[in-house]
Amino acid sequence: MSLLKWKEKLLSVLSRPPAVEEPMWKHTSMRIGGPAEIMAFPQSINELRIVLELAAVNNVPLFVIGQGTNLLVKDGGVRGIVLNLVDMSYYSYFEKSSIRAGASVKLTYLVKEAIRFGLRGLEFASGIPGSLGGAIYMNAGAYNKSIGQLVSRIKLMDYEGNFFERTGSELVFGYRWSSLQEEKLIILEGVLDLIPGEREEIRRYAEQILQERQEKHPNFPSAGSFFRNPPGKTAGYLIEKAGAKGFAVGDAQVSMQHGNFIINKGEATAEDVLNLMEMVKEKVKSVMNVELEPEVRIIGENCTKQERD
Ligand SMILES: Cc1cc2nc3c(=O)[nH]c(=O)nc-3n(C[C@H](O)[C@H](O)[C@H](O)COP(=O)(O)OP(=O)(O)OC[C@H]3O[C@@H](n4cnc5c(N)ncnc54)[C@H](O)[C@@H]3O)c2cc1C
Repeated sequence: MSLLKWKEKLLSVLSRPPAVEEPMWKHTSMRIGGPAEIMAFPQSINELRIVLELAAVNNVPLFVIGQGTNLLVKDGGVRGIVLNLVDMSYYSYFEKSSIRAGASVKLTYLVKEAIRFGLRGLEFASGIPGSLGGAIYMNAGAYNKSIGQLVSRIKLMDYEGNFFERTGSELVFGYRWSSLQEEKLIILEGVLDLIPGEREEIRRYAEQILQERQEKHPNFPSAGSFFRNPPGKTAGYLIEKAGAKGFAVGDAQVSMQHGNFIINKGEATAEDVLNLMEMVKEKVKSVMNVELEPEVRIIGENCTKQERD
């Protein structure tokens, strides 16, 4: 089915019109990325099922986006459908010792609300941008803690439209990794187990963490730590030791403040970032003999200079 037919079909079945050729830079913290062929905003489980069914029947690729804070989208954009769940999964409920929230809810909002409700355990996530769904998928973490340690159950849908639940013990979490990355699943909701505590104490700890992060992190668009930390070392240390801090391609630069942040100083393209990534990898390999791997998820299509201009 042609792109036009697809749009017509989706228009007729979804309450919110899908966006066609939607610039992905608007949906990523790096402020980089070519257009998504179609971005769909299902309003309900039923509408999500319809999108999945149409995609399956027509063999159209699907990509689920959260807040786009761990993504580098290439300049040629994303083929197929980018699923944006923001309209159907932005809700949260706080109980005595848990939070139940939709996948699109911002993690920073949950941290603030946990403090308000006097619930301890999520302070480590203070200042980690992104959605709950993205955090669970990536097992976001800091200060030797990660979200996987708190997940008690999640609601999911597979690409065939089957709706089901998994408990925390049915999932496996590792360093910036969850078993969900091995399957084609959409996270719809998560329940986190927290511990009732003293509100002011929780607030003080969360604020301390936030302040430390603000001091360490550069004030430019980025996707946070660009490379995974190899065992026993931090990528930031290796990059600094190798002398790659400050390396730049176009407006993409290895931050002088934090060696593991690649920042967009204005008009950086994904190609700039990818070339810079290779430069950094080569330098770290030759000086420190360590192979760095990106933590950021790189998606989408390359484009020619002609297409970009
Ligand atoms: C300034 C800055 C600081 C950061 N600091 C940290 C940090 O301290 N610790 C850390 O771990 N990360 C950090 N990050 C990275 C990022 O914030 C996390 O990885 C975050 O959890 C990603 O969430 P997201 O909603 O933005 O996901 P996205 O970037 O949108 O997506 C990431 C992956 O998750 C998948 N995904 C998203 N939502 C769903 C869903 N509902 N169902 C299925 N798959 C889904 C996507 O398909 C994609 O593969 C930082 C980023 C920035 C910009």
